[in-house]
Amino acid sequence: MAQAAHQIKKHLRRRIANKTETVTPGSELEVIEIFCDSKRYPGPIRTVGSDSASTRCNRTVEGTVLRTSKLNQILSIDSRSVTVQAGVRMRDLASELATRDLELACGCDAPDRTVGGAIASGSTISAIPGDAGHLSSIASSLTLITPEGRRIVVGENFQDLIRAVRLSYGLLGCITTVTLRTRPIRTCSIEHQRFDFAQFQGHIQSPGMNDAGIKFYLLPFRDKVFIELRRYTDDGKKGRELPWKIRDWACNAALPTVVRSVSRIMPIRRIRYPVIDGVSEATQILVSNTFVETGSNSMEQTGRFRKLIVTPTTHNCTWIFPAKRFGFVVSAYRKFCLDYYESSGFRCDLPAIGFRINQDNQSLLSPTFDSTAFAICIRTNKHSGWPDFVLELAEFSAQFDGIPLLNQTPGATAESVSAAYGTRLDHFCSVRRHLDPANRMLNQFFAQTIGS
Ligand SMILES: Cc1cc2nc3c(=O)[nH]c(=O)nc-3n(C[C@H](O)[C@H](O)[C@H](O)COP(=O)(O)OP(=O)(O)OC[C@H]3O[C@@H](n4cnc5c(N)ncnc54)[C@H](O)[C@@H]3O)c2cc1C
Repeated sequence: MAQAAHQIKKHLRRRIANKTETVTPGSELEVIEIFCDSKRYPGPIRTVGSDSASTRCNRTVEGTVLRTSKLNQILSIDSRSVTVQAGVRMRDLASELATRDLELACGCDAPDRTVGGAIASGSTISAIPGDAGHLSSIASSLTLITPEGRRIVVGENFQDLIRAVRLSYGLLGCITTVTLRTRPIRTCSIEHQRFDFAQFQGHIQSPGMNDAGIKFYLLPFRDKVFIELRRYTDDGKKGRELPWKIRDWACNAALPTVVRSVSRIMPIRRIRYPVIDGVSEATQILVSNTFVETGSNSMEQTGRFRKLIVTPTTHNCTWIFPAKRFGFVVSAYRKFCLDYYESSGFRCDLPAIGFRINQDNQSLLSPTFDSTAFAICIRTNKHSGWPDFVLELAEFSAQFDGIPLLNQTPGATAESVSAAYGTRLDHFCSVRRHLDPANRMLNQFFAQTIGS
């Protein structure tokens, strides 16, 4: 029976693969040719960067998948900006900038992604107050190949258009080059704190947190929250690289590997989860006690161990909540996890990661357009039970005005997208219809979530 199901799946996969053509253009001209030739390259055309999206935004059962991996040149760097092709990985860019003592003028937590993917989709970062909320906002100029094959350079003098193209999820065409603002590397201090959920609820909105960038790890089954606060020091001292490398390795390579191994060898969940939680907590204690006291965007973005696709079985789902009520959300989230485990037997095996994201109205589909907000990125290695969990999570999030990201929030409904983005989504859709009258870029996922 299982073998028959496997054969059917394989057959379906092959059929799907046959209907979808993957192209990897090496130049802007090739992108234009692809967009202009609708017979050879039928729609929907989905542009894919490093393919880390956790929704079906990049999926299509027929049509064309355009990969940007060959558009990977850094074109020019000066003291204030860098111009790159869209397929350059954030890590490679950060490493090149670091050789000149420069960094991007914005945080970025997942350096495996491409610059194009990070600009065209929602990003969640621990932004220090004063910095942009989203990486896309430091893009001062973009080259866009429209769905009809026109090449347009969109600078900040075209405010309306650049706000639509940032976070446009590949719906307005393919971004081929981007100019991003840079600055000399700025050092920040890192302070670690530990709370239980009740303490965290009170503390997260206290004035003491206002001047810091906030990242935190939630362990609901241990009732523990580990916080990392970042503040610029500008004392001229460069942070030490080794502690960051060790931290990066511990959190992003060692922990997921150990958790996976424990899950494999320990079938009894009453033993398995306490062991996993123990390892997660020990990792956080180790990292906060020993290693990192200073850092910079540059140091974070050149890390080696944070792989976006940790394994094909790592799943994640991010919801964003307005800052005003976040203290309540986080306590309710713990209760939700405990209750759901009790009733269904499913729980996530990796700590959720949270960030405070600055208010940012530089793009129409900015999830923090109206106010500062907190993101919770929920992660697990466990597949069975995950699809149902994300649906319940969507209902939970709706009670707290949760804002979904179109690339990172599986389970979000058209209603939740419309409630979160409102008239800005209407405006974006009218720009989309203008630039893509034949719906060349619109796949089933977007047709269902944002409409045509
Ligand atoms: C394990 C894991 C951890 C993650 N952690 C974080 C995190 O901490 N913070 C965070 O912000 N994100 C995180 N993400 C999400 C991910 O990094 C973002 O979705 C990222 O911005 C996408 O970059 P990408 O190159 O993978 O783009 P893809 O996933 O390939 O594409 C994302 C969207 O952008 C569009 N797109 C891509 N390139 C172009 C282009 N050149 N022109 C036009 N449209 C384009 C696509 O069509 C799609 O709609 C994580 C993902 C995973 C799997």
